[in-house]
Amino acid sequence: MIRQPERLLEVSSVRFPAVNVDRSVGAKPTASAHKRFSLAAPARRALLRAGLTGAAALGATTALGAAPASASPHNTPTAPTTPSRRRPETPYEALRELAAGNRRWRTFCERHPDESPAVRQSLTSGQHPFAVVLGCIDSRVPPELVFDQGLGDLFTVRSAGEVLDEAVLGSIAYGPLELDTPLIMVLGHQSCGAVTAAVEADESGERLPAHIQYLADQIAPNIDHTKEGAARIDATIDANVRAIRSRLAAEPDLAARIADGRLAVVGARYELTTQRVHRIC
Ligand SMILES: [Zn+2]
Repeated sequence: MIRQPERLLEVSSVRFPAVNVDRSVGAKPTASAHKRFSLAAPARRALLRAGLTGAAALGATTALGAAPASASPHNTPTAPTTPSRRRPETPYEALRELAAGNRRWRTFCERHPDESPAVRQSLTSGQHPFAVVLGCIDSRVPPELVFDQGLGDLFTVRSAGEVLDEAVLGSIAYGPLELDTPLIMVLGHQSCGAVTAAVEADESGERLPAHIQYLADQIAPNIDHTKEGAARIDATIDANVRAIRSRLAAEPDLAARIADGRLAVVGARYELTTQRVHRIC
């Protein structure tokens, strides 16, 4: 099933306050930024651990439109050392940039940003990715390509079917909690093999090889039993994204950031046939 094209990310109608902070990729990181980036700092390690041990209550959802935008005081910029595009600072701005990048991708107008020698040099002293994308391992859906982003732009975390475990949760939490990344996107996709395998295993009762069964077990609770055949697989792809988004949004440290507008967690889906990404609400 192909989703309606006009539902692409749906950010153009959402109004957020403008944030006039220019923190470009070329910005020279401050000393505090270096400290934040280092996992050697005990307090930061404790913070990261705290974000991983809280019980995740299922069912919570996040409305991007309900989150007031705000710039984190930790992200005070310094003078850019190289000319660069403006880095998104808020959930809305991050989502808008992903939407623009996907538009370039699907219309074959990619800019391949942030690959220049100057950007590569500037990134030797730090990074400020503006979004975390949790995607599938599928070779047809690499986030940097489908959103036309470059070096230093995205944290990409990938597991089959976007399945969570402690390593995936920790990797996702690293962006918001350590680098104030304002957006987490859970990106499912059309014709997901992991979801297909989980649905087929559920129907047949067959055990999958080795650790692949773990993936199926994680996806199984999200299977849409109201549908049959290919429609069940397709609906489960969306349901799986929703469940993972809700799980992430309920993580206590992430929920606190969502509540004060510093972070949004959204679900989305990539259509192989159109190369379009659209929101899953
Ligand atoms: Zn997949």
